[in-house]
Order: sequence, then structure tokens, then C-alpha cells
Amino acid sequence: MKHVVCFSGGKDSTALILWAKENLSEFTAVFCDTGWEHPLTLAYIAKINADLLDGKLITLTSSKYPKGMRELVAIKKRIPSAKARFCTSELKVLPMIEWLKTQDDECTIYQGIRADESANRALMPEREWSDDYDSLVVRPLIAWKAEQCFALMAEKGVKPNPLYLMGAGRVGCFPCIMVNQRELKALMKTMPDIKTAIAELEAIAERSFFPPNYIPARFHTGWDPKSGMSFPKCKDVFRYIEKTDEDQLPLFAPTSCMSVYNLCE
Ligand code: SF4
Repeated sequence: MKHVVCFSGGKDSTALILWAKENLSEFTAVFCDTGWEHPLTLAYIAKINADLLDGKLITLTSSKYPKGMRELVAIKKRIPSAKARFCTSELKVLPMIEWLKTQDDECTIYQGIRADESANRALMPEREWSDDYDSLVVRPLIAWKAEQCFALMAEKGVKPNPLYLMGAGRVGCFPCIMVNQRELKALMKTMPDIKTAIAELEAIAERSFFPPNYIPARFHTGWDPKSGMSFPKCKDVFRYIEKTDEDQLPLFAPTSCMSVYNLCE
């Protein structure tokens, strides 16, 4: 039996690595690289790999889109969205399924999902069979609070991903297509390069990074003649977010990505 631990560079999966070191005799840690992670996340993952995993972390990339998010967006000519999260399926889930098929042993997959992250995750059992993975999935942290993850890291002398201190509510791609307005405002202050990254993806797709209802329509400057609808270009969103006080922005909890798979955080 092979124990496979999903790792993304976020607090929960880092805590999961620490849990695995104490509770599994041996395990394989796997990271799905979308080519769209922040350099600080990649540096953090490299450090965890060196410090905790003896350099044995397995990094998976998409065989269909080996250059990651930019290539995916260029070929599909659209940016993923909350309703069409093909970034997760193409860049994370399918590479994992492909890799699992190459294993010559049965696998048990460990995910750092916590019930208090969302109503959806609260319904997830600690153990269940996954037909997609053709494997048993175990969630040892399902009853944990975020504070326990940080506490375990502190106890073991492992610092969290520095992006948390810079306003990121969750760590995965940078920026995630599901970034919310408050998080975006915080990140625009601490990491102005987020604007360049978003503008780059928009230029590749020739489509908006943000959904039509991300900001009020009166601030839109984009117009889609096919649908007859306006849409916000990224510069509209940046301008709106910059001039709107934080407490006027919607208070949404950081969103979760394809929660049954837990490959994004
Ligand atoms: S972290 Fe966000 S952008 Fe990255 S794969 Fe998940 S949903 Fe897509």
C-alpha cells in the first residue's frame, strides 16, 4: 500500500505533511504544479521538500498543457471561472489521476481538508472511496481548526507560506481565478505584481479575468457584442477596488477550489 499525501504549499497541506510524518511509516508527497503559482509559494514548497521530505516531493504537471495555466488559457481562449473551473480539472485532478494509474501498488490518498472551511466540506467524511482516483481517500484533519494547523507548524518550527502574511486568504495559484474582492485589495497593496499577472492572462485569453457581476455594471468598460452585455476589464476592477474602502467590499470567506479533490489548498 502506498500512502500519497497531497501538498500545495498551503497551511492545511503543510500540517498534513507534519501529521503524516508522525502517523505514517512512509509516504509519498505529491504537488500538482499549474505553472501559475507565486514564486514565494514555489520557494516555500522547495523548502518544505528539502526540510521535511528529503527532497522526495513528486511534482506533477499536465501532459496536455505542460506549460500550465498560460497554455491552457491560450488554447481554450478563455479564463476559468467559478462555474467552469477547468484549471483544477486539467492542471491538478487529471495529472493526479494519470500519475496514480502509473503506480504499481494500491494507493491511499491523504487530503488536508477541514470541515470548517465550507458547508460543502463539512459534509465530507473522514474516509471514503474515490472512483475518480480508484483509491481510498482519507482526511485526517477533517475535524481540525485552522489554528491547529498553525499551532502544529509552530510546534515543529515550520513557518507558514509567507503569502498568508501578505493578505492571501488561501494559497494555491497566484492569483486564483476565485480571488475575492477583499483578498484582492489586500494583495494589490502587498504584491502589486498581482495586477500584472491578471492583465497578462486577460491579454492571452482576450477575455476578462473577472465574472460580469464582480463589480457593479456602471464601472464596466468592456462590451460583448455577442451577448449584448457589459463586462469588467481588469483595469476597471483594479480602479474600483482601489477606491472602495475595505469595509464596503463584500465579506466572503475565501472560496474553496473543487473541494472534493483538495488539490488547490
Ligand atoms: S487554485 Fe484557483 S486558479 Fe488554481 S487551479 Fe485552483 S481554482 Fe484554478
